[in-house]
Amino acid sequence: MSRLILRNGHVFDGVSNDPPTVADVVIDDDRIVDIGPGLDGDLEIDCTGRLVTPGLFDCHVHFMVDGDFSAQTHLQSPFSLQFFQAAERMERTLGVGVTSVREAGGSDAGVREARDRGLIAGPRMQISLTMLSQTGGHGDSWEICGGFMPGMMDAHPGRPGAIVDGPDEMRRKVRELIRADADVIKVATTGGVMSSRSRPQHAQFRPDELAVLVAEASAAERFVMAHAQGTQGIRNAINAGIRSIEHGIYLDDETIEMMLDAGTWLVPTLIAPMGVLEAVERGVEIADQVIAKATEVVGIHRDSVSRAMAAGVKIAMGTDSGVTPHGQNLRELAEMAKLGMPGDQVLRSSTTVAADLLGVSDDLGTIQVGKLADLVIWDGSDLDVSNMRSRIHTVIQDGAVVAGRLGD
Ligand SMILES: [Zn+2]
Repeated sequence: MSRLILRNGHVFDGVSNDPPTVADVVIDDDRIVDIGPGLDGDLEIDCTGRLVTPGLFDCHVHFMVDGDFSAQTHLQSPFSLQFFQAAERMERTLGVGVTSVREAGGSDAGVREARDRGLIAGPRMQISLTMLSQTGGHGDSWEICGGFMPGMMDAHPGRPGAIVDGPDEMRRKVRELIRADADVIKVATTGGVMSSRSRPQHAQFRPDELAVLVAEASAAERFVMAHAQGTQGIRNAINAGIRSIEHGIYLDDETIEMMLDAGTWLVPTLIAPMGVLEAVERGVEIADQVIAKATEVVGIHRDSVSRAMAAGVKIAMGTDSGVTPHGQNLRELAEMAKLGMPGDQVLRSSTTVAADLLGVSDDLGTIQVGKLADLVIWDGSDLDVSNMRSRIHTVIQDGAVVAGRLGD
């Protein structure tokens, strides 16, 4: 078996708090087997003057949509087209150094398995299949005309329907999702921006429903992620023991304190509301109410996330890609930095902290001997994350070069 050596790079290992040190990283098969000076290998990539980081995580993506969520686009697309489109979007995502994702609604077990079998290229995936929603909630696609708006989470045999009301239905629904092989359970505990009529400020599901959800998920060793934007719905999610708050638009100081006490992660998705407004500019047909909500929350969201960062809440990188076109994931790093997060912490949020959130730290998220060899080589050795897209040199997943250049 040949040994691939990353020669002489500035290694950001995600473990040490010290600045990156120059070292060689040796990969044998799919694992990191040695780190240090003057090591031997067969194939070599010169990393002199370059940064070497763990492969990045995006903890919130939707591969079944790509920056165009208009009704017309869904209506005119044959059912199975979404899966072929997803394959190309996954490859695009891998190409920007994102080697692991949490799919927050849309992809089913077949999409995940096609990647795991090597039929298609893409990030490692944890899938939620859909997003559980109360009747009239953020995931209910019933429109005021009396019909259903087609979308990325419509029910099919591999993707159970999302609408559930009451503790008994909740128990059955979580079991259905686990039967369909969801890795993580996603629930909307508030309204949202992208649904035409729900309000982000309103709490959705009551504590008794969320308690059953978490109990059933925990029994099957699944974590729960909550789409949660308004304050009360965020608090309900924290109190129920949900692992991560997605978006977290209205965070007051008391709620931030609750997150610190409970150890809850925040996945900000700062570029998501920006993406809605950019889609409008591109001419994507979007409901007026959605545009109004996106405009309203952008500034409030940034303020909440910056206060959560300052307070020391665990922040994991997530973009809601799909709302923005796939492959723009690295914009999120720049936005996190703009809110005051130093570059090394932004990289930690995108690697170590995210791996902890997904429960995969034994194998991923740091550069250490014995870990799986998911790595990214970036031009330039500094930790300035403002334009990472332009710095991508080579992406390595499972010890193989999957994007970029080998040798130069
Ligand atoms: Zn989302």
